[in-house]
Amino acid sequence: MDSKLTPQEFEVSKITNNLIKKSPVVWFLWKKKYNWPVEFVSDNVETVFGYTKDDFMSEKVMYSEIIHPDDIQRVQKEVISQSKTGTSSIIHEPYRIITKTGEIKWLNDITLIRRNKNNEITHYEGIVIDIVEQYNREKSLKESERKYKVLSEQFRLMSDNIPDLVWSKDLDGNFTFVNKAVCEKLLIAKDTQEPIGKKDMYFAIRQRKLYPDRKDWHTFGEVCINSDEVVLKTKKPQRFDEYGNVKGKFMFLDVYKAPIFDNTGKIIGTVGHGRIVTKEKEAEKQLQKQNKEYEILNKKYIAQNKELEIAKEKAEESNRLKSAFLANMSHEIRTPMNSILGFAQLLKDPSLKPESKNQFIDIINNSANHLLNLINDIIDISKIDANQMNVIENECKLNEFLFEIYQFFHSEVSRKKGQLKIVFKKGLADGNDVIKTDTTRLRQILINLIGNAVKFTHEGLIEVKYTLTKDKQLLFSIKDTGIGIHKKDLTVIFERFRQSEEASTRKYGGTGLGLAISKACVELLDGKIWVESQHKKGSTFYFTIPYKKGTTPKLEKKITIDKSADLFEGKTILVVEDDIHSTLLLEIILKPTKATILNAKDGFEAIEVCKKNANIHIILMDIQLPKLDGLKTAKEVKKILPHVPIISQTANAMHQDKQKSLDAGCVDYITKPINKKELLQKIAKYML
Ligand code: ADP
Repeated sequence: MDSKLTPQEFEVSKITNNLIKKSPVVWFLWKKKYNWPVEFVSDNVETVFGYTKDDFMSEKVMYSEIIHPDDIQRVQKEVISQSKTGTSSIIHEPYRIITKTGEIKWLNDITLIRRNKNNEITHYEGIVIDIVEQYNREKSLKESERKYKVLSEQFRLMSDNIPDLVWSKDLDGNFTFVNKAVCEKLLIAKDTQEPIGKKDMYFAIRQRKLYPDRKDWHTFGEVCINSDEVVLKTKKPQRFDEYGNVKGKFMFLDVYKAPIFDNTGKIIGTVGHGRIVTKEKEAEKQLQKQNKEYEILNKKYIAQNKELEIAKEKAEESNRLKSAFLANMSHEIRTPMNSILGFAQLLKDPSLKPESKNQFIDIINNSANHLLNLINDIIDISKIDANQMNVIENECKLNEFLFEIYQFFHSEVSRKKGQLKIVFKKGLADGNDVIKTDTTRLRQILINLIGNAVKFTHEGLIEVKYTLTKDKQLLFSIKDTGIGIHKKDLTVIFERFRQSEEASTRKYGGTGLGLAISKACVELLDGKIWVESQHKKGSTFYFTIPYKKGTTPKLEKKITIDKSADLFEGKTILVVEDDIHSTLLLEIILKPTKATILNAKDGFEAIEVCKKNANIHIILMDIQLPKLDGLKTAKEVKKILPHVPIISQTANAMHQDKQKSLDAGCVDYITKPINKKELLQKIAKYML
């Protein structure tokens, strides 16, 4: 076998050697001999094998000796088997060599089989490539592929086994990943592959189409802001509240979204995570609602507490006022009682001069009237509380009516030794002054207010006047130059038992009821009451009542009784009365009239007397009677003597009692304490 290359072949080899000198490819020309001695090798052999060109070409190093012992047999087999087939090249499976430094390197080897004219193999010529780097690269690629596969499998496993929603999208909003929860709970997709490359609206629309009649079936993607856009714009991770209906049920998602960047910093999509917090949100809502309710309750409690505090203060105040009232009351009762009892005793003195006697009687009378007024006030307050103050309107000539009251006070004021004057100014001309009102209440108001003016004014002027205002109100004013009222007391004095500081000292007396009663009466008449005052300068009390024009009142049969002597001679009067003192009083009053007096101590007795005496001219009937009360008795008596007038006499000044006695058949009533003049006038009115 000729082992030498022809000169041309050698020349080609040299050129090839020059060409590959700088590449990682080493070119070998092996002799077809035992151990594959090298006839030629490219200059760069040392970079791969560590051995020099000379080491090989001087045959110090034989090629088969540097092949890894584990690979040599396989390589030899490949050479032999390929050589036998007559092919011209052998592509070896990569094999290992051991370099001069002992390092193991993997090589790729492509060998051409050279033959002579007789087709005998003379040489092997091959390119050997160090595949360490490529191998490593491929290896690490495979490794990272394996790792990636493991990781993505793990991630899929993890994300498909959590209740939260996890997904990623590209820049156009197409899903690039979704977990099971997204498919099942939000998109209603077949599996985790279906959404890939599609947008969430695709699934929303698909759901809506399934239930066209139910607008609330799937509302996700409609009601909330486009959070993907927000994240892409801001390039920052963010949290969003996203909500809507899925399969007709409300769902609230707590969503975190973040942008995905590639390794150049460019945004390539978004990742998202959503937690279903519907229950929590509902609980939160409930809690907020409850909190609000608690807040309202709290405010209510605070207000209630305040109210309670005010009520407590009021209760304490009213307690204090009641104590003051009781003290006042005791004083107001004891003072006149003291006069009544004291002077009554003095009256017994036989040596008493007639002037003193008259003076004492006046004092007793005044004190008794004072007591009566006090009792009336207390009854009025009870009536106000019981809502039993009624309005009974009657026609009234206002000027005449006011003048009477004025006159009453005029005489009282004159007694203040001329330091005080009272004037009355009318607001309507006589004849034009007829009005309709409850004169009892109007009188009560005026007497209270003028009475106060007189009480609290020592000198100067009291002016009582009234005018008709444009809005058809009668505006009354009582102006005085008295002690005046502190500003702080201006409103409280209208409350019961309230008196200003000065007045509450014992100097003026009083119970603090007058203004409260007056206010109630004014309001009952549909009017208003107020006061203007300057301390130490004087006060003006105003009140209004609606102006109701009246017609001239019918003239009442007025009987003037100058003296009672022989007034009722020939007449018989039945006095029905259980109280012996009251009976005695009536007898004493009636005795000078020369009337025949019959007595009955209870209802049954009265009926008996009536049955026996048909000539009774009038009956004075007490209401509170033992056995059969006055009202029932009156009804029975009316059956026996239907034409005999009955006048009830009652200690109850309540309006109902008067009305009840009229209903029972009485013609009139007279209240106790009996006023002699009034009694005689009334008897005369109905009997004569
Ligand atoms: P009384 O006069 O019995 O105390 P009133 O209710 O009539 O009760 O009056 C309440 C309080 O109003 C009086 O105690 C007094 O302090 C004050 N007052 C009423 N009228 C006048 C007035 N004309 N001048 C000064 N104070 C007045």
